[in-house]
Amino acid sequence: MSYQCPSCNQIFTAQQALCEDWRNPEKSFGCPHCGKFYKKDLRSNLRQSICVGIMAGGIATPTAMLIGRSLFNGDNLSLFYGVAIWFSCVAMLVIGDWRNRA
Ligand SMILES: [Zn+2]
Repeated sequence: MSYQCPSCNQIFTAQQALCEDWRNPEKSFGCPHCGKFYKKDLRSNLRQSICVGIMAGGIATPTAMLIGRSLFNGDNLSLFYGVAIWFSCVAMLVIGDWRNRA
């Protein structure tokens, strides 16, 4: 079972996590790397980053191929679509990342 620290992005296991006081949920689960304590809900965070990663790979890869093929064929419309999809994908990732940090 792995967790990802939202502060320093370090991935650690439940065994490695810091625990100062197991009765206090605010002090029972901390990042061993930067020493910050969290409530034990980091798993969804890691799952979310995996989802975003798969989505980014699934969209960015075919789009990059579309852009490459359009450049090769001189197809400006497909090139425009490819660049538009790619930019919105990047914007979505940046916004998602910014939301995670906020
Ligand atoms: Zn950390």
